[in-house]
Amino acid sequence: MYCNITSCSILGIEAIPINVEVDVSNGLPSFLIVGSPGTEVKEARERVFTALKNTCLPSPLSKITVNLSPADLRKDGTALDLPIAIGILICSGNLPPKSADKTMMIGELGLNGELKPVRGVLPIVLKAKKEGIERIIVPADNINEASLIGGIDVFGADSLEEVYRFLKDPGKIILKTKSDIEYKESTHIKEHDFSEVSGQDGAKRASMIAAAGFHSMLLSGPPGVGKSLIAKCIPGILPPLTDEESIEITSILSVAGKLDSRDYLVKKRGFEAPHHSITMSALLGGGSVPKPGAVSLAHRSVLFLDELTEFDRHTLDALRQPLEDKKVRISRVNYQVSYPSDFLLLCAMNPCPCGYYPDRNKCNCTEPEIKRYLGKISGPILDRIDLCVEMNRVKLSDLRKKDGEISSETMRKAVIGARKMQKKRYAKEAYRFNSEISGADIEKYCHLGPKEKALSEKLYDSLSLSLRSYHKILRLARTIADLDQSEEILEKHILEAVSFRPNPAYWQRM
Ligand SMILES: [Zn+2]
Repeated sequence: MYCNITSCSILGIEAIPINVEVDVSNGLPSFLIVGSPGTEVKEARERVFTALKNTCLPSPLSKITVNLSPADLRKDGTALDLPIAIGILICSGNLPPKSADKTMMIGELGLNGELKPVRGVLPIVLKAKKEGIERIIVPADNINEASLIGGIDVFGADSLEEVYRFLKDPGKIILKTKSDIEYKESTHIKEHDFSEVSGQDGAKRASMIAAAGFHSMLLSGPPGVGKSLIAKCIPGILPPLTDEESIEITSILSVAGKLDSRDYLVKKRGFEAPHHSITMSALLGGGSVPKPGAVSLAHRSVLFLDELTEFDRHTLDALRQPLEDKKVRISRVNYQVSYPSDFLLLCAMNPCPCGYYPDRNKCNCTEPEIKRYLGKISGPILDRIDLCVEMNRVKLSDLRKKDGEISSETMRKAVIGARKMQKKRYAKEAYRFNSEISGADIEKYCHLGPKEKALSEKLYDSLSLSLRSYHKILRLARTIADLDQSEEILEKHILEAVSFRPNPAYWQRM
């Protein structure tokens, strides 16, 4: 006998509907899975067979063939265990032939028949709804995530036996639904506020510009000046997530297996701060069964590389591709997956090996030592940094400020105002932020009046800027003008933008 169960598999962060075709026929007992199964799917055989046996559901001693269609598409993960087991039960006459119609099911089986949570449930339920599926059965631990999407009946089960009894007699057995679950708000990150940062007005201003135009930023300064704290405050001044972004980020975390089973939809922008010993595959994504890396977990959020000079140079070089394409492609034999990776890059470093340059009272580093230290930073990454900020020790007078420190809320309002100007300006373009304007469109969107033109030409010559640095300054000036709610880029905007270029006296050592 033959039957067909609807399920779903994840490729990248995309859910692909899978037809699990099961055939049980007379012949020598065997169990064959075909249709490009990955290693985990091949192992489903042992899990399904043992789970059926330990649930006391008779498994037929016949020839079992499972085909996963479309056959040419690679299937990974353990979500197909449940549909395979149910398919066998239907084909062996233990369940009515039409009991699993219009139902999608996913779930990993333990050897005792327990149903374990799987990755990527959110994109799977989204897909099921799109395909017009009426109900979906998921492991009970995944029900929170599955219930985020309305308009489809979601049932959660703890074991294979529960699903079996539900399908056999739907009126009698009731599986868990959304109402059985207590929600909690996601506590994805602890929020820091700029009002906690004493002084450092220059770095705060730069943070606001970075957030407003999605400009990457490098903070350099001695230990203890608050570089990390400033970076941690930045997610809090980015505009709130739209519903679409929220679902997108939750989907990535779900596929990466980073979503807590009690988590609600991610509502706050994240902050990914990988350690400098991170491997290339953990940073970009990879593994035998590919998973998203730090750059994708930081999608639409912040990627913070602290102690930039300690990162492996090749690892940093590899960031070029996601920075440019805003997605990561991972190739494997026969297939390719891609993960979105549109992140705001923030970096921090000490100015020299001891950390105190140019304070020669404390710093004894020799010129060659500093040169070697700077040489560890990959040039292509430095090219992609828009704002360079040198931070110094906080002055005592700053600690005694009367009117207090600027709060994240005030800064976020300014950022949102600047984002609105960009949204309007780029309504008919592919751009979203000033940092994305291509060289060819600079003239069009960073238009300068006669006075500003004269100033920029003077700066171009006197500072012997490269064309790349010149364009960077204009993009930054565009964002600074947007923060001022000014359609025109004025001289003061250009002058402020120039102040954020790398200090040549320092960087020329490279
Ligand atoms: Zn030093």
